[in-house]
Amino acid sequence: MAEPVVGSVIPSDLYGFAERLTDAERAVVLDLRKRLETTVRPLLNPAWDAAELPQELVDAVRSLPLMDPPALKEAGEPVRRLLTGFRNFELARCDINVGTLYNAHAGLFRTAVLLGGSPQQVADLDPRILDYSLTGVFGLTEPDHGSDVAGGLATTATYDAATDSWVIDGAKRWIGGATISDVVATFARDTADGQVKCFLVPRTAEGVTMEIIPHKASLRIMQNAHIEYRGVRVPATARLERIDSFKDVARCLRAMRSDVAWMATGATAGAYEAALRYVRQREQFGRPLAGFQLIQEKLALMLGNLTSSLGLMVQLTEQEETGVYRDENSALAKMVTARRLRETVALAREVCGGNGITLDTDVARFHADAEAVYSYEGTHEINALIVGRAVTGVGAFV
Ligand code: FAD
Repeated sequence: MAEPVVGSVIPSDLYGFAERLTDAERAVVLDLRKRLETTVRPLLNPAWDAAELPQELVDAVRSLPLMDPPALKEAGEPVRRLLTGFRNFELARCDINVGTLYNAHAGLFRTAVLLGGSPQQVADLDPRILDYSLTGVFGLTEPDHGSDVAGGLATTATYDAATDSWVIDGAKRWIGGATISDVVATFARDTADGQVKCFLVPRTAEGVTMEIIPHKASLRIMQNAHIEYRGVRVPATARLERIDSFKDVARCLRAMRSDVAWMATGATAGAYEAALRYVRQREQFGRPLAGFQLIQEKLALMLGNLTSSLGLMVQLTEQEETGVYRDENSALAKMVTARRLRETVALAREVCGGNGITLDTDVARFHADAEAVYSYEGTHEINALIVGRAVTGVGAFV
């Protein structure tokens, strides 16, 4: 069999989008892949099967030199958003749980601090976020408010002038990585002015209780928490000073949606590549499945999904590099890439036949985990409504 067409940095990058990375950035991506293959991949299937997040996996992910890669520093290059994108791509290309675990701290939480903290808070917190001496996650969604959290957020924060502190009451749901992190960036409505604010609440604070959401059929390795806050008191310094309303939360979500869209794209590559490996070695009717026309059509569909998602993400990210962030742009990217992912994992599973529902081919993990990506960081419908509002001028959420 002839050797398949490959991209120089990413095997399935047919159009060579990753060639827009500098040499030093490419080296970071390739080094990440090597580390993932040796330290992370061997842990995945047992952890997924057991629905557990082993400490060894957490340590392996936290030891990846990614947020501020030394190789870039040596080359005198900044950490560009394009590299951040391909980093998320590569993590999810290995596994969506791993990408989500990394992104909860380095994406969601760090973005909340960088965009929501005062310059002094950023100067104090960011170095600790970078070296994981402070770990955090993002607590926005509530048991009764998912898609309508912007207007419905019910967790409250009441300022107590006598002690210069805030008292938080309410609940959060689905908070990824909360049980293994030091703090939860908790969004709560100020009882004085009705606006949404954000507080770094220690996991161990008095009045905080957490339970891992059990029996998940998607993202089984990544742990999500249901959190209750009962009269939880935090000092005034725990409030991120530049989050004064939901508009400021939306600034964070804009950046986070592109991060997740990069993960959806990486997972599309992972599923496609796993399916391609399988059909090249599996024989039926006396020859490899890869040689049948109907299989090749499915491979072409998957590769088409991947290539169009990559093109979308590279263009969006290069636009963001110039400072342009629009709600509708990242919402469209999240919506399209997640839908392409969902179609791709189904095709990948299909060409693997029965083995596509076992953990042996990697495809089953991508297939199940894609469902979580489809729903988090704004569901398909909510992202469509964000785009719809932008192109029609009419909000249709309610
Ligand atoms: P609902 O809001 O109840 O929606 C159910 C369905 O109704 C969806 O299909 C939705 O699109 C549709 N719908 C709702 N409103 C409309 C409307 N107006 N028009 C048309 N259709 C509508 N949140 C965090 O804060 N931090 C996290 O770390 C985090 N991690 C997550 C990890 C996982 C694995 C999952 C599944 C979720 C996570 N979330 C997290 C929460 C996630 O953002 C929410 O699940 C998401 O916003 C959807 O909310 P919901 O699940 O309550 O669904």
